[in-house]
Amino acid sequence: MKVGYVYDPIYLKHDTGNHPENAQRLEAIISHLEKTGIIKQLIPIEPRPATVEELALVHEKQYIAHIQEVGMRGGGWLDPDTAMSPGSYDAALYAVGGTIKAAEAVINGELNSAFALVRPPGHHATSRRAMGFCIFNNIAIAAKYALSKHKLEKILILDFDVHHGNGTQEAFYDNPQVLYISTHQYPHYPGTGSFDEIGSGIAKGTKVNIPLPAGSGDAEYQQVFEQIIVPIVKRFSPQLILVSAGYDLHWADQLAMMQVTTTGFAQMTKLIKELADELCGGKMVFGLEGGYNLTALATSVKATFDVLLGNRDIEDPLGQPEKRWNAPNIDNLIKRLKEIHKLL
Ligand SMILES: [Zn+2]
Repeated sequence: MKVGYVYDPIYLKHDTGNHPENAQRLEAIISHLEKTGIIKQLIPIEPRPATVEELALVHEKQYIAHIQEVGMRGGGWLDPDTAMSPGSYDAALYAVGGTIKAAEAVINGELNSAFALVRPPGHHATSRRAMGFCIFNNIAIAAKYALSKHKLEKILILDFDVHHGNGTQEAFYDNPQVLYISTHQYPHYPGTGSFDEIGSGIAKGTKVNIPLPAGSGDAEYQQVFEQIIVPIVKRFSPQLILVSAGYDLHWADQLAMMQVTTTGFAQMTKLIKELADELCGGKMVFGLEGGYNLTALATSVKATFDVLLGNRDIEDPLGQPEKRWNAPNIDNLIKRLKEIHKLL
């Protein structure tokens, strides 16, 4: 199994200061991959900067120029959550370029799957707005690139970050070639992602929002994967699966209130891999979004790689939630989603 990863110290140059989305996140991941030795089983992919033309697949030219200008004057705040430092513009270009390179290597068959360990993250970035720690929408740009450059016709973007990927949804809201499925805590930042947001025009039904109540854990995610996500993905039958992989739904994460474990991430990855193996020759590209508890993030990314590599043993040092809340009942949500997406 050829599994690649994108990483470069340039991603550490996006200096956000005292902020949950900081360089230590990637340092923790890489050091855990090294310490456990799994990095030797992975194939490094060297990132490159994205071109302005590539950024413009999703973002307005004026917005790109604005980001470039803020970068050139040494940084600043783009929105109340999203800051740029002198190194941020280059890091953001390499985050997009690295994700594109990972996708390209998988599309061309050089790799079976890949994970772009990049920052800044991307899924909140809209065509004309930075928000929620995101500057350019790495995964959305990689998807548009695969559609235009490689002439793919059907791509799945699965976004399991605990926040709704409003930017990604916006980029494809009227595009039937991209099935966008998001599981997220709801209501929560950024406010979008209600189950009735299903796409517009000919793309109606290709945006699947699964708004989960706070407290959802491994069992609830398993339930939505089995009953909603798997049948919808099989019906759509993508040629490539892109994953907006955020790990902030881990119980130990400080930015949200879900109860997923590292073992739960491995289970989800297994289900995604089974879909990829059945539908698209195993072609999967993961891109890092959120995840702010360093131990939870590092062990869960490692568990993701273990599943991609076909390693059997999953290490879950954090184990089950310290204080387990009553699991919310999501039967009515599942029923509603089945109606909306005609799974009955
Ligand atoms: Zn998130």
